[in-house]
Amino acid sequence: MIDTEMKTKLLAAAVKAAKNSYSPYSHFAVGAAILTKGGNIYQGTNIENVSYGGTVCAERVAVWKAVSEGELEMEAIAVVGPGTKEAYPCAMCRQVLLEFGLDMLVISGDEQGNYMGERTLRELVPFPFTPSALLGEQ
Ligand SMILES: [Zn+2]
Repeated sequence: MIDTEMKTKLLAAAVKAAKNSYSPYSHFAVGAAILTKGGNIYQGTNIENVSYGGTVCAERVAVWKAVSEGELEMEAIAVVGPGTKEAYPCAMCRQVLLEFGLDMLVISGDEQGNYMGERTLRELVPFPFTPSALLGEQ
């Protein structure tokens, strides 16, 4: 279970990551911070590309940073976006996230890092395409 202190810490890390957003086209700065089951935190921000197709969301940057460091089990991810609305991962990011934990908690915050809500990936993706679809039950 993730306590309030950890949620606040993750949201703050996501806000910090958003400050490094490379988003000259959308001007939509997003930050993410993923918590592994081992207790490590990896930050990500959206990185746009003039080709548009090369653009990557903050959530996937955070996941790839974690996986590239050998982390495969994720506990939670905090996501913050511009303004005062909830920020949740896009469908592509939800697919990437569920590869590493269908019960991962997704914590949503505003651009100040204020807690706006939370959902599990299971709630965000009710009929998921998971590794077990290809590999069978693990
Ligand atoms: Zn995304």
